[in-house]
Amino acid sequence: MDLLVELPRLRPRLVILTLALIALTGVPVAIYLITRAPATPPIAFSEFLHHVERERVTQVTFQERHLQVTLKDGQVLKTVPPPEFLAANAAFVTDMVKRNIRVDATALPDPNELNYPAIVTGLAFFGLICFTVYRTTAGRIPSMSGRTRVAVRGDNVVTFQDVAGVDEAKDEVKEIVDFLREPERFSSLGGRIPKGVLLVGPPGTGKTLLARSIAGEAGVPFLFASGSDFVEMYAGVGASRVRRLFKEARRHPSCIVFIDELDAVGRSRGGSSLSHEEREQTLNQLLVEMDGFETQRGIVVIAATNRQDILDPALLRPGRFDRHVTVGNPDIKGREAILGVHARKITMAPVVDLRSIARGTPGFSGADLANLVNEAALLAGRAGRATVTNSDLQEARDKVMMGVERRSVVLSEMDRANCAYHEAGHAVIAALLPNADPLHKVTIIPRGRAMGVTMQLPEADRHTYTKSYLETQIAVLMGGRVAEEIFMNHMTSGASNDIERATDIAQHMVCEFGMSPLGPLAFRKPGNAFEADKHHTVSEATAQRVDEEIRTLVMNAYDHATWIINKNKAAVRLMAEQLLEQESLDAAEIKDILARSNARI
Ligand code: ADP
Repeated sequence: MDLLVELPRLRPRLVILTLALIALTGVPVAIYLITRAPATPPIAFSEFLHHVERERVTQVTFQERHLQVTLKDGQVLKTVPPPEFLAANAAFVTDMVKRNIRVDATALPDPNELNYPAIVTGLAFFGLICFTVYRTTAGRIPSMSGRTRVAVRGDNVVTFQDVAGVDEAKDEVKEIVDFLREPERFSSLGGRIPKGVLLVGPPGTGKTLLARSIAGEAGVPFLFASGSDFVEMYAGVGASRVRRLFKEARRHPSCIVFIDELDAVGRSRGGSSLSHEEREQTLNQLLVEMDGFETQRGIVVIAATNRQDILDPALLRPGRFDRHVTVGNPDIKGREAILGVHARKITMAPVVDLRSIARGTPGFSGADLANLVNEAALLAGRAGRATVTNSDLQEARDKVMMGVERRSVVLSEMDRANCAYHEAGHAVIAALLPNADPLHKVTIIPRGRAMGVTMQLPEADRHTYTKSYLETQIAVLMGGRVAEEIFMNHMTSGASNDIERATDIAQHMVCEFGMSPLGPLAFRKPGNAFEADKHHTVSEATAQRVDEEIRTLVMNAYDHATWIINKNKAAVRLMAEQLLEQESLDAAEIKDILARSNARI
């Protein structure tokens, strides 16, 4: 494992701090309560004179406003002389001395003397206030947190072998490894090595992994920080963290500084709110730091983002993040390779077909695939098997794709029947329309948030979509609602997600893909402020036509689905009955049902 070392930070151990505070406030109060003289009510002055007369008094102490009287039997009493009594009767004191009474006085408290209990209590309260502020601001007091993590070489360093499916990106960063290994070779030639490399790609594609593998290959420390760590509510905190990160980097002769989620701090500048100012300061500090170190030093800053378009242009200038490397979702070969990398870490059965799993996981990122292999290992472990089999991998894929089965959910007969017809409706349309992706599985076991799932798997990765493919997709989505209406005679809320997705596809077709009679124009999607800048703003009349075209696309697909299902009622009924009986149907079983019921369009 790479060793992740946290830079020192004064993170309060909450329990110890709380106990210390209780001790600080509690102890002085307790001492005061214990040492305080018990409050006895004063006796009448005449009574005191009476005690003096009867020779019962041994000692009188003059205090600030009263006299403390000690009797021969050890009793201590208090009395308050009438005003001016002592001034008028000076002989009274000498008289007492004559009677063998010890007379003394306590000094008045010196106003300059330090009152330690009061100071301690005050400090304790101050501490308590600081602590409360710290808690309510979630620990974001500047000096109290810094989140740079440094990975130093441990015994499990990530290398290029651990990163698969992103060969072009690997090729592009190879020269950085060479440079970090032998900086002199490059600098003696006067070559300039990029200070900053920006890895651009969706989440989970292995950007962090790639950066770590560069450090691993070159054998240099890996300093990790996330852009969101720099975004703080206190002005100047983010900037000071950036400074700290680079200070740490300069302590090493060569190293990789990795900043994840660069867009969190690197958004285009502008705006007036306070958080903007803070972010601007942080961004400026980052620019200053990047300009500050010479290229000859072996420090390379690598940042990751999936929103290159919103980054401040200053960040992308030469000398900063001027090298851009795209890290995309892997294709089928890449997915197989990534599965291979992760399969090495677990015990696989000798005959696992990673290729077919790779084929069945279009759109999966590297992180999804790593998750899939891990899920498969857990499934095998739960079943008590020593090795992970193909069926474990397939089940894990379904789990990652469709969510976990929720067998504990109890559906009423009515809901089950409704769900069975709904899914059968999707499935029959998908099976019969020529452009649809092949069916993989239909199930009425609740998974994730869905009551049932109809799963299609494209045969190959799709990078572009034809108009007829998208129309087919909307028709498949409508199939569920249509089947409910035809067979159950009602509509349910279960179709809401289908409706949402269908509307979304239709909207894209009209507003972005130019696939409607409105022509190849980009129209602004309502309520999307970011898109608003880029897209052509439309007139009220056009907006109305956009809405109409979206509706037409969805309604046409709905009518098409109704026509197909009406024509193939037997197939839908048979499939629903089979689903109610066995809950899940695979591709072969679906095919068999369609053949038996002579389904066609
Ligand atoms: P990103 O930084 O792009 O969001 P990560 O590097 O954090 O993605 O990837 C998360 C995990 O997914 C990695 O730790 C690794 O296990 C797995 N992974 C992602 N991409 C790949 C890949 N190309 N090869 C091997 N494993 C990968």
